Amino acid sequence: MREQRSKGVAGTAEGDGEASLGAAFVIQWVNELASAVRDQRDYLTQLDAAIGDADHGINLDRGLRAAVAKLEGMEQEAPGIILEAVGTALTFTVGGAAGPLYGSGFRDLGRALGSKERFGPEDLLVALRSGLGAIQKLGAAAVGDKTIVDAFVPGLAAFERGLRAGAGWPAAATRARQAAEDGMRATVPLQARKGRASYLGPRSMGHQDPGATSTALLFSALERAAGGTARAVGEPP
Ligand SMILES: [Mg+2]
Repeated sequence: MREQRSKGVAGTAEGDGEASLGAAFVIQWVNELASAVRDQRDYLTQLDAAIGDADHGINLDRGLRAAVAKLEGMEQEAPGIILEAVGTALTFTVGGAAGPLYGSGFRDLGRALGSKERFGPEDLLVALRSGLGAIQKLGAAAVGDKTIVDAFVPGLAAFERGLRAGAGWPAAATRARQAAEDGMRATVPLQARKGRASYLGPRSMGHQDPGATSTALLFSALERAAGGTARAVGEPP
């Protein structure tokens, strides 16, 4: 992975809607996510300690390590197959509510890409939409419920706007990461309506949602894999 990065953007052609993404790109995306979650593990767990059961960082880190291990030797597989494998690994190793949510999200993302070896940003948009659909189908959450969805929906919308603006897909990925982080921060004042945090009622207000935070990391990892200049979501100052 480090070698790939030193060669620049993994598997992309410059800029436009025809950019050709492949297995190297999706593997880099997952590796970037795994490394971001490893870096932010304690922060995610601390967020979950405030309004959940203090395991989000630990669980997601364990699941992504398993996913990364599973990707060894899959470089020749179709990107969709790789992402489905990531979904399956997450479903079986993350646990809690996040495991099935991220697991089904990645699985449907992969399924949407099918068995083709190369894909473009428009295909990625469709696949991300499919992943979000799986998450919403399972979690029945809408924007404002203080969940993953609060970062995913604006991130996805900004990605689409960025593609339509024609500034090149890495720029669209940057917009997506920024919007996902805005969505993440916007969960702070909300009262949780889904998941374990909802049991706290009004006491869930004033805390950033851990799921929205890990989803911001997902978009940050996408930006990095796209060759953009993502920074870590990090602790607030
Ligand atoms: Mg938890």
